[in-house]
Amino acid sequence: MAGAVGVAGLRNAAAADNQQAVESPREPVKFTWWGNHSWEIRCGKYVVLTDPWLTRFKTGTYEPEGADPTTRLVSKPEVIDRYVSTADAILVHHGHYDHLPDVPYVARKTKATVLGNETHLNLLRALRAPADQLSQVTGGEYLPFKGFTVEVFRSLHSCGGERHQFAFPGTRPGAVPQRPRTIADLVEGGTLAYVITIGGLRILSLSTAGFDPHALRDLQVDVVLAAPGGEPGVTDRLLQTIKPVKTVIATHWDNFDYPLDKPAVDWGGLDKLRASVAAAGSSFVKVDHLESIVL
Ligand SMILES: [Zn+2]
Repeated sequence: MAGAVGVAGLRNAAAADNQQAVESPREPVKFTWWGNHSWEIRCGKYVVLTDPWLTRFKTGTYEPEGADPTTRLVSKPEVIDRYVSTADAILVHHGHYDHLPDVPYVARKTKATVLGNETHLNLLRALRAPADQLSQVTGGEYLPFKGFTVEVFRSLHSCGGERHQFAFPGTRPGAVPQRPRTIADLVEGGTLAYVITIGGLRILSLSTAGFDPHALRDLQVDVVLAAPGGEPGVTDRLLQTIKPVKTVIATHWDNFDYPLDKPAVDWGGLDKLRASVAAAGSSFVKVDHLESIVL
């Protein structure tokens, strides 16, 4: 019973804090793009990272044959150290190879709290991430951190093709699996979305074009990090599901076989994303590799 009281108390606290976040004066929030869905979101000294993946390795993901499943996973501290300095929270959105492999090193370096679901965290444990920094979430959580809050939402990976598929589906619940060696070992593992409230700004972070309409219905945010791709019309449906949003920032639009320290190469989804955002009456923002925008 104490649990039930605790939950109710938390709900009220969440509502009060939400109100506070909305009413609190705006402070500049700096978004820096490290390619794919890797963002550093900074307000003063507080830093949230989304799916930090800096190393990159050639996979053929955007070639007609698709990614080679036998591609070995690599994580290069010397590359990560060029970009990552501090962080308070690392938000893991799904388990794929272009999202997860650098998280253990980034977590160890920054001492940040890592949020992810059971599969994401099991894969991270198998990749030797620092276990005491991992926080398991499923969707529905409201988590106050110093300087920002994080709300967790159930989400869906984008899918496509005649059979509506995506790469490397599957989960790794229960025991920690064997150490992942190839990109096929990093299964999707379920997908999460997050709302970060920082500097009075509410940011919805989506790592793929997919989303759960039931989880996001009438959600009010100021900014969406939105990825191109997925089923036809999916971004139009996203922008009709949530309340009208002022700004949409393109994410995960670069072909990551090309280097991070060169201008991003559009894999081909950007025009459609831009058109959906324009149709919804939101402003479309695109930053290049390693560039920042302050909102
Ligand atoms: Zn993915």
